[in-house]
Amino acid sequence: MDLKTEFSRMPFEVLFDELLAPYTTLQIGGQADFLAFPEHEKDLFPLLKISQNFNLPITVLGGGANTLILDGGVRGLVISLSKNFKGLEVLLENKDEVLVAVGAFEKIPSLVRFGISNGLSGVERLMGIPGTFGGALMMNAGTATQYVEDLIESVLWLPFGERKMKTLSKEEIEFSYRATKLPAPGVVISSILRLKRGSKEKLEDLYEQNLSSRKKKQPWGRPCAGSIFKNPLNDKAGRLIEECGLKKLSIGSAMVSEVHANFLVNTGGAKSSDMLALIDEIQRTVKKQKNIDLNLELNIIGEEESPTRICSHA
Ligand SMILES: Cc1cc2nc3c(=O)[nH]c(=O)nc-3n(C[C@H](O)[C@H](O)[C@H](O)COP(=O)(O)OP(=O)(O)OC[C@H]3O[C@@H](n4cnc5c(N)ncnc54)[C@H](O)[C@@H]3O)c2cc1C
Repeated sequence: MDLKTEFSRMPFEVLFDELLAPYTTLQIGGQADFLAFPEHEKDLFPLLKISQNFNLPITVLGGGANTLILDGGVRGLVISLSKNFKGLEVLLENKDEVLVAVGAFEKIPSLVRFGISNGLSGVERLMGIPGTFGGALMMNAGTATQYVEDLIESVLWLPFGERKMKTLSKEEIEFSYRATKLPAPGVVISSILRLKRGSKEKLEDLYEQNLSSRKKKQPWGRPCAGSIFKNPLNDKAGRLIEECGLKKLSIGSAMVSEVHANFLVNTGGAKSSDMLALIDEIQRTVKKQKNIDLNLELNIIGEEESPTRICSHA
């Protein structure tokens, strides 16, 4: 049986040659050979088995809020957990702490709202971060001083090569600045978070302050992928890029945000090659002017298809 027939027989949706741009906040990217939407944990087993039999690479896509998909598209199988794998559930509570289970495709803003409305402190540090909790876990998302890892009690995942889901304790996961390493590549299905009881009023206040500060300091509502570069030790990538005079620099339809220099925005119909060329230009300029290497926080996937664009200042 050929691959298309195998995937067509799945009792859930598998799309062929599906354009991935709409699945990312940057709204850039070519087609996935196969984009699957499993609806239950058990659906993952045949998907992974087919991929193994046909030697297909596997990519898991969350909310696409930290991902640049290249215009040549993504070969093999892309898995989206968006049809299910959501949900928030209180598992255990005492007077100080609460254990909460969160599905991998639960959106971060709804987790934050859940925490605040139940007077649970911990998740407020993720305020204003888009995407899913699975993506936030894999990116160890957060702020300058507070990361997702601080919340984790355990993670339920399915390693690509195995037939059984496993639970990882926090100690079995390698967390670092904006990166998380599981023992092997796999699909995160859900996590258990340890949250503290807090004052609902204080959390509400913090939420409002944080939200209005983000709206001022970030290109709110424009297609982007958050911070493109990691902050160098004891410094800020945005400050360095701004000091190099790169705010509003554009290549094709990719532009350094005028609001926050570590955010690149798609001003309309940007190609992935525009983004890559702009990233390269920023790295070269910051190295030349400041002698500092900027490393990517952005997750880049897929194959390139790159016409060169002309560099200009808006
Ligand atoms: C306006 C804006 C503001 C932002 N602000 C912040 C911020 O303050 N702090 C911060 O840290 N980030 C920030 N980000 C980046 C982004 O929101 C976070 O990294 C987010 O957690 C990514 O989640 P996602 O679901 O979109 O992940 P994706 O971009 O879809 O994926 C990220 C990585 O996680 C993997 N992945 C996703 N789901 C799974 C899963 N279920 N199993 C296995 N692997 C998985 C993907 O393969 C990929 O490697 C911002 C982004 C935007 C657009």
